[in-house]
Amino acid sequence: MSDNFFSIIENTHHSRPDRVVIESDDGRQYRAHDLLTRSGRYAMLLAKLGVKRGDRVVVQAEKSVQSLFFYLACLRAGVVYVPLNTAYRRAELTYFLSNARPSLVICPKQSETDFGSLTSATILTLDENGGGSLEDAVEQVANEAATAAVAPNDVAVIIYTSGTTGRSKGAMITHQNLSSNARVLVSYWRFSEKDVLLHALPIFHIHGLFVANHTALVSGAKILWHRKFDPKRLIADLPRATVLMGVPTFYLRLLAEPAFDRDFVRNMRLLISGSAPLLLDTFAEVEARTGHRILERYGMSEAGMITSNPLDGVRVGGTVGFPLPGNAVRIVDDQDRPVPDGEVGGIQISGDNVFAGYWQMPEKTKEEFTVDGWFKTGDVGSFDEEGYLSIVGRAKDLIISGGYNVYPKEIELVLDALPGVLESAVIGIPHPDFGEAVTAVLVPQPGAQLLEQEIVAQLKTQLANYKVPKRVHIVEVLPRNAMGKVQKNVLRQEFS
Ligand code: AMP
Repeated sequence: MSDNFFSIIENTHHSRPDRVVIESDDGRQYRAHDLLTRSGRYAMLLAKLGVKRGDRVVVQAEKSVQSLFFYLACLRAGVVYVPLNTAYRRAELTYFLSNARPSLVICPKQSETDFGSLTSATILTLDENGGGSLEDAVEQVANEAATAAVAPNDVAVIIYTSGTTGRSKGAMITHQNLSSNARVLVSYWRFSEKDVLLHALPIFHIHGLFVANHTALVSGAKILWHRKFDPKRLIADLPRATVLMGVPTFYLRLLAEPAFDRDFVRNMRLLISGSAPLLLDTFAEVEARTGHRILERYGMSEAGMITSNPLDGVRVGGTVGFPLPGNAVRIVDDQDRPVPDGEVGGIQISGDNVFAGYWQMPEKTKEEFTVDGWFKTGDVGSFDEEGYLSIVGRAKDLIISGGYNVYPKEIELVLDALPGVLESAVIGIPHPDFGEAVTAVLVPQPGAQLLEQEIVAQLKTQLANYKVPKRVHIVEVLPRNAMGKVQKNVLRQEFS
């Protein structure tokens, strides 16, 4: 079989073209035949547009089955798929386009002019119902392209993960990364064509794009495709599903619905949570209401899924389980020396799941790997004596709000540039719904008057909504240690 990850999906589906693989919440059904022919025609369109192997295709589009098929087409063609969060605004897009230098951009109709002023790439549009100039163009294509031969280490996808310096880094994910992680998850979570996956996650992030789609498409499971997360609609579909993948916020929202009970999950075999820490309370409450112990797992853009609680063994709340087969995980001290079980340290990983480095940032890549080849995740945790991993914090001060990563530095840079702001510190405050709420602490310039509402309004024009602080506190001075570093722990205590 070819090293192209798509070959595994093709292999699952080519002998059963009539099977329904996706049922969308707009009432449309898609069969294996649709998946194969549509992605083949998109791949042919890419060739006609002159997009070559290794070229980047930037996609900022609402979730649609067409955008999924287009993603699969990029894999087939051996071109590099670069998904962008739909919430990104112009200032953010400017950087991504200059860094990725795409040959083709797919965006909604209303962003076409904006993108046109930022890139010389070909631009096609895709709206939330699957229409637009991309659809018009593919309708003109009669033939399907064969799946391209690629090398295992060829880059399939670049996922941008913000850096603590405020600069985003493009994590290069190879075909081998995708294949190994998908195979491991299908077997560890025992996915089969009998499964029906409830998919309500966004598809610009590894959770919705890789974990959910790949486990279903590789195993032949059916996907119930929800374009947006709506707890009531999700509950209505629960009795038809066998697996749900969600971020902790999903489970909190479901618990707020009285209908979320044992009866509604009667056909469900697995509730999975990840992307942010699941509160122990949520874990316990879901078990009390439904009889299911949520399976929590841990992963990141740079490495796909790293650890998972077991399918058959005991799922321990507050832990992210064991390293997945083929993935090595170690806990180290400041000198990269492994520490004994029970001790807290930096989490480092190695295995076929670990990415190929940051796009065009060889120095940054070098910094993030140890001399003996382990990737430094930036997370801090410990193993207990039974081998369960717990994550206790994030070395890099990352804030995770509603499942999205927010890097304080990026917001601090924007805040510091606002008129009247002397300096700022951005922290995460525990929040019952979002996990953490982005919170800003500002010091005004002498004589300046800062108003919370005005600051928030200005930030909304420059940043994706999930990054905009939920609260802005004005103080006279920021607490600092002897080395002059802002003491964020002091701020967190004060404003929690
Ligand atoms: P991303 O690259 O956006 O997927 O974010 C990866 C980061 O999310 C990891 O480095 C962790 O800090 C965090 N994360 C993912 N899953 C979990 C989890 N189950 N518990 C705690 N943190 C998690």
